[in-house]
Amino acid sequence: MSKLKILIVEDEAPLRNLIRTTLYTHDYAFETAENAQTALMIASSLNPDLVLLDLGLPDMDGIEVIKRIRSWSNMPIIVLTARSEMSDKITALDCGADDYLTKPFAVEELLARIRVIQRRLSVTQTRLPEEQTFVNGDLRIDFSQGCAFMGGDELHLTPSEYKLLCILARNVGRVLTYRFISREIWGNEWESNTGSLRVFMATLRKKLEKGEKTQSYIQTHVGVGYRMMKL
Ligand code: CA
Repeated sequence: MSKLKILIVEDEAPLRNLIRTTLYTHDYAFETAENAQTALMIASSLNPDLVLLDLGLPDMDGIEVIKRIRSWSNMPIIVLTARSEMSDKITALDCGADDYLTKPFAVEELLARIRVIQRRLSVTQTRLPEEQTFVNGDLRIDFSQGCAFMGGDELHLTPSEYKLLCILARNVGRVLTYRFISREIWGNEWESNTGSLRVFMATLRKKLEKGEKTQSYIQTHVGVGYRMMKL
């Protein structure tokens, strides 16, 4: 795979420099933008593989930047937020961001998140659109048959558990909010079903991990949602 091109959007110079140095040291290609206008211009001309986006920008709300990018591109976006911006983080994910990092973060954490996106890109780039099977480690989903297997054994899932598994699999590597998942499963009645989602997730996890004790497929983001990891 060629060098990953990353766009850094951050108005605070010390943090921008820290990210820049980190990416440079780890051999990533990058561009930087200090505000939303520049970010949108570079995003469209450079077509980066990943955008690291600060939500608090001087000229435009970061959420608006996500919406504009999503109107024409699926490029992965990791938002950078302050701890106090919990609701912004959830809104950002619901508007199409892939992941988030809470400031202040360690550079190792930043690099780990970039690798998650990189693994996901390698999956989506090699997958044919008409493919009917999803494979991740020992997990295999046969979309055309509507069934899932763990290490060759069929998983006995309820329709809701299966739907949940498919939603996570189709968005592998992305953090999905409770709201997003609930809407996908139950449509507009999601608000009354967030409790049910936690229950389905618990039983689904138990079934997945019975066959695969050492690996954890589903990551919990407390107060935010869930993500299926690409193994
Ligand atoms: Ca800022």
